[in-house]
Amino acid sequence: MKATLDQVVARLKRAKRALVVGHIRPDGDAIGSVAALTLILRKLGAEAEGCIPDRIPWFYREIQGTEILRGVEELRGRTFDTVAVLDSSDISRIGDAIDLFPDREPDVVLDHHVTNSGFGVLNLCDPGYAATAMIVHEIGKRLVPYDRDLAELLLLGIATDTGFFKYATVDERAFTVAAELTRHGARIQPIASAVLEHRTPKTIRLLVEMFRTLRLEVGGRLAYAYVSADMFRRTGCDEEETEGFVGEIRALHGVEVAILFTEWPEGEVHVSLRSKNYVDVSRVARALGGGGHPRAAGCTLHVPRLQDAVTTVVEAARAALVEAGI
Ligand code: AMP
Ligand code: MN
Ligand code: MN
Repeated sequence: MKATLDQVVARLKRAKRALVVGHIRPDGDAIGSVAALTLILRKLGAEAEGCIPDRIPWFYREIQGTEILRGVEELRGRTFDTVAVLDSSDISRIGDAIDLFPDREPDVVLDHHVTNSGFGVLNLCDPGYAATAMIVHEIGKRLVPYDRDLAELLLLGIATDTGFFKYATVDERAFTVAAELTRHGARIQPIASAVLEHRTPKTIRLLVEMFRTLRLEVGGRLAYAYVSADMFRRTGCDEEETEGFVGEIRALHGVEVAILFTEWPEGEVHVSLRSKNYVDVSRVARALGGGGHPRAAGCTLHVPRLQDAVTTVVEAARAALVEAGI
């Protein structure tokens, strides 16, 4: 059912052994909000574990407080009386973490995706928030005193989901929360350094390879590029090193829709969609089995060849641009 903040707060207060879960291919909001809610529950006296069901890109580990996070394997065999799932629009987004609470729904779902399916007992999903971390903050400030780690983890979520305060989702509330967190000691500098300044020579080589594949269509309003499994092998890069690449495509002047195709492993293509002003890319992603936000969405396609994914998605994006009246 749809839940209020009060209902969620009351439910979390009853937790004794809690599990907090984020999504696969984790971003700063998943990492920050899961680690922060885990800290909040521990401050309340609960035994709480935070789980990210996938590899955490190495540079997020530079942010204090992220060491609290565990993988699924480390938590197998444990039992929990309270399960909270964060920043995930449907249950498939939590990957193998589903094994940690068999035969039941999550007790609490906190999210801000328009595509959220409401798969928990208590669902607090509000696309009006720029980040799930803002919802966690609403809860946290009612329950516990803040310290720097908690404030900085929440700021990580807000900063990354707003593109460091530059997307259309940024409103007065985002700045107000950021100011509150700063007052509690959160620093934007270590976050920016970890997330925006982690490129290595091999990542730059991969970025150059990606830009070689760049195509522009629909009078420059649609831009797309890919990173193939072969490019990963040639440059010695991992998938996690493509963080920020789709933003580089979106940064082109005049582009409305930017798409990055990432082939890893072979046969699987992750599609990252971004828009600037008027195309709702969450609809494009949802039609292809994924989800997301109006200006940032994604899906994963299982296709024999990378080019098959490119053809399908570019066609759908072109149609969305035409439908929006360009
Ligand atoms: P990404 O392009 O992977 O950075 O994802 C952009 C947005 O779309 C994020 O809010 C993700 O949570 C969401 N998203 C990405 N992939 C999927 C998927 N396969 N299913 C549902 N939502 C997704
Ligand atoms: Mn996320
Ligand atoms: Mn988010």
